[in-house]
Formats: sequence, C-alpha cells, structure tokens
Amino acid sequence: MDYTAFMETLRKKGYTPYFVKTSAEARDLVMNELLKGVKTLGKGGSVTLQETGIWDALLNQDEITLYSTTLAAMRGESKEDALQKAMFADCYICSANAITLQGDIVNIDGVGNRVGALIYGPKKSILVVGRNKICKNYGEAIARIKREACPKNAVRNKHPELPCAQTGKCGNCDLPARMCKITSRMEYALPDREVHIVLVDEDLGF
Ligand code: SF4
Repeated sequence: MDYTAFMETLRKKGYTPYFVKTSAEARDLVMNELLKGVKTLGKGGSVTLQETGIWDALLNQDEITLYSTTLAAMRGESKEDALQKAMFADCYICSANAITLQGDIVNIDGVGNRVGALIYGPKKSILVVGRNKICKNYGEAIARIKREACPKNAVRNKHPELPCAQTGKCGNCDLPARMCKITSRMEYALPDREVHIVLVDEDLGF
C-alpha cells in the first residue's frame, strides 16, 4: 500500500490526512494534537475508536464534554439529547465504513446521525480509519460494507431478525431494523469544513 500517494489523493480532495503505524500513535495524535482547543465533541458509534484506545482516553479526561449515545446509555441519560448535541459540537469523531483509493468516504447509516454530522454538523471532523477499510473503488466499498460491517453490526446492535445477522450476507431486507437506510459518498471536502483523516496501518473495526 502506497500511503504517500493515497495521502496526496486525499489532500487533493480537500481533506487533511495523517498516517500512523499503530493504534497507540493514532490515539496520541488525536488526543494530543487534533483535539487541541476542542471543548465539545460528538462521537459516532465506532469499534475503531474502542480498539485504538481513543474511547478510553476520552472517558479518562475532563477537558472535553463528550456527546455519545454509548456514554448516555452508560449514565442513564437521554440518547436523543446526546445525538442532538453532537450535531452542534466543536468537533465530531468517528471512523468510516470505507474509503476508496480515489478518496471517496463511504458510510451506510441506520439512524443518520453519523452521516448527518459529517455532512452538515460540526465544522471539524476526525475520521480514524484502519487499513482494512481502504477499498479499490466505490463498488468494492459498498460490497465490503455489506459483507464485513453490516452482519457484525447487526449482531453487535442486537438485531437477530436481520438476514445479514442470520446468514452473514445481505438479504436486501425491508425491515424496520434495517441498518442500511442511508448511504453517503463524500467525493470532496465540503465548504468551510475541516476533515482530518487518520490512516492507521492496522486492521481496525469493521
Ligand atoms: S439491507 Fe438488511 S440484510 Fe442487507 S446488510 Fe442492510 S440490514 Fe443487513
């Protein structure tokens, strides 16, 4: 994988890319550099943030107010309130379902909070992306999400009724619990928004 060329592609798309070898480096970059000056932070659901240790680091600091449905559930607070406040935070942090070699950021959401925040939420976003999320093109990105992300998320989010949870394959379902309600393909950075992409040379999340 030629990360130098890939980072140049991302720069041309208006994004600010970083490359690190390890989760620990990603955590330190995010906590010590990218979140400098941030007072309020929205967070999307992300296994990557857990695996890199960023989630624990966020829980163990008291300078940034965190808006996250996971945290709201842990504290017995309103998830809807956390979702709303995350949209107006100084910054938003999550991963991406996939990122293509052409620089497209691809996400499929069941609620819309994550794609909503990335499109017209906080002025600054941080995406932490493992090497396993990098795809050759848009078609492969969608296939990867349906094959790798959706079945595991269906199980993780406790939706055993979904075909992908039962068989590991997308059944193009029409069920209320469907996770694939919105697909977003960001092809270029949006105006007046900073999008920081931390590429990590490890397999992270799904
Ligand atoms: S459309 Fe339904 S079955 Fe297919 S991946 Fe999405 S939630 Fe799973």
